[in-house]
Amino acid sequence: MKSWKTRPVPVLPGSMPPLKLQETSSGRLQPLPADRPASLYVCGITPYDATHMGHAATYVAFDLLNRAWRDTGVSVQYVQNVTDVDDPLLERAERDGVDWRDLAAQQTDLFRADMEALNVLPPNSYIGAVEAIEWIVPRIEELVAGGVAYTVPGDDGGPAGDVYFSVDAALAPATGAETASHEAHGADGAAHEADGDGVSGNRVDAAWWLGQVSRLSTEDMLPLFAERGGDPDRQGKRNPLDPLLWRVARSGEPSWEGGSLGAGRPGWHIECTVISQRFLPSPFTVQGGGSDLIFPHHEMGAGHAYALQHVPMAEHYAHTGMVGLDGEKMSKSKGNLVLVSRLRADGVEPAAIRLAILAHHYRSDWFWTDAVLAEAQQRLARWRAALSGAADGSAASVITEVRAALAQDLDAPRALAALDRWAAAATAAAPGSTSDAALVSDAVEALLGVVLEA
Ligand code: ZN
Repeated sequence: MKSWKTRPVPVLPGSMPPLKLQETSSGRLQPLPADRPASLYVCGITPYDATHMGHAATYVAFDLLNRAWRDTGVSVQYVQNVTDVDDPLLERAERDGVDWRDLAAQQTDLFRADMEALNVLPPNSYIGAVEAIEWIVPRIEELVAGGVAYTVPGDDGGPAGDVYFSVDAALAPATGAETASHEAHGADGAAHEADGDGVSGNRVDAAWWLGQVSRLSTEDMLPLFAERGGDPDRQGKRNPLDPLLWRVARSGEPSWEGGSLGAGRPGWHIECTVISQRFLPSPFTVQGGGSDLIFPHHEMGAGHAYALQHVPMAEHYAHTGMVGLDGEKMSKSKGNLVLVSRLRADGVEPAAIRLAILAHHYRSDWFWTDAVLAEAQQRLARWRAALSGAADGSAASVITEVRAALAQDLDAPRALAALDRWAAAATAAAPGSTSDAALVSDAVEALLGVVLEA
């Protein structure tokens, strides 16, 4: 489906040092390959309640990565999905008495407008779940044929024919060459020492096991699985943690032609796996999303990918923290969502929203408050005022500092602090150098996505 537009990225002199990013499964900083094109998949929204501050923080975080990567000189292939059919969307449409297609279309439009306003670079491919169904069905059929997926009989939980992924069957090495076991690929195993010497050198020997991405125990997985859309109690499943691949048609629910699977609609994890494998290399470089996607979504998606192509889905997993409001968890049920579109309607400048997000490290959990926004608005005003007093020759060193901060696990707060120091010095030294002002303005826009000069 159509993506969105943003301003062109200013080209800066020099380049960013090679990037390091924290790998979710190991918890360690890992160098990202700098000698070949990069590929990025960030899980998209289910289009209702768009775009809340948690969404915005996630897409701004991976936009920093996208911009940093481009500044190192590598090209980036970026793919994002939109889960435009799924249970929560259908439930919301039912609750509000609207057609689910209208709700999805309207909320996706709102999301695009918010991303454009926040100056988030658009994905090269923006793909809806509905348009992906024709690609997903044959992949699920392959999993069934390969013995890693199975159907369950009908019961109170639903009619016969729902297809599940067997986490136990998938554990066995699909190629037969390697042995997959937790012991063989522990937290400090060779699988995590990839040094970026080409796709073929990256974790291709690492078969998938349950816990590979999240490092959770089965005991810790079960409550999260139930909380995040899984159905551990469905009768007929081989393992309570087996995730849904295909939900056969129910009356009153939309369904699509499913070949040998029968009419129905796909599960959520397989949607991202199939879209990423269709539009990106296998493995692609970075899989991103909010930390609530680590399990089960990214864990299971990685399992589907390995079962289909016998290589890992992604070389690297990175996750953003959660954003709350005034000390409380932000949630649909509490009705305390901070929406980007509402702030914009209230006249808040998107650049200030973006700066408020960047004041927090992408991995930290934080709270949106009026004070956070006010601080960002003041910072934006200070930086703008400083442009007229930029000290002659001051741009190069602050740009170096910003680049160094971002190269080290996207440390935006450190980058902001460097610019604060520059702005304080610049303001004191007015009138300043117009060429340094222009360079700093370009760097703030190119690297941080914050527009200082209209
Ligand atoms: Zn996803």
